Amino acid sequence: PPDVEQLGRSSWTLLHSMAATYPERPTANQQTETKQFLTLFSRMYPCWVCADDFRTWMTQGNEPRVSNRDEFGRWMCEAHNAVNVKLGKESFDCNRWEERWRTGWRD
Ligand code: FAD
Repeated sequence: PPDVEQLGRSSWTLLHSMAATYPERPTANQQTETKQFLTLFSRMYPCWVCADDFRTWMTQGNEPRVSNRDEFGRWMCEAHNAVNVKLGKESFDCNRWEERWRTGWRD
């Protein structure tokens, strides 16, 4: 079985990086494909309880927001925070998602 922690860190890197490189003005097709990716991801993620909970979270009032980069990045941050809360980890300040995953920290 996969190492759920290593798989998780790698997967969040992929997912937040997808948001970081998402267009500021996506076409209708890009938005559709992104939602399709997330639906399939939530079915194929190779930690089945993780996938079940992620799918449930998405369908219970948290449909992917893919209208532009900032919306998608914030939605991904909220998805990650839902898992953080479930695991008793600290929540991340979603105003800083872009600093963490796109532009680099300012200090
Ligand atoms: P991670 O949570 O992997 O985070 C990596 C880095 O992302 C952090 O160091 C931080 O810099 C940054 N970060 C943290 N929070 C946010 C945020 N909200 N927004 C943006 N950046 C952030 N594990 C389980 O045990 N049970 C589960 O049910 C489960 N479900 C998961 C569902 C999905 C869809 C994914 C992708 C992973 C899931 N995981 C689950 C794995 C879990 O989320 C962690 O990846 C794993 O526990 C390792 O945690 P970590 O503390 O190393 O940091």
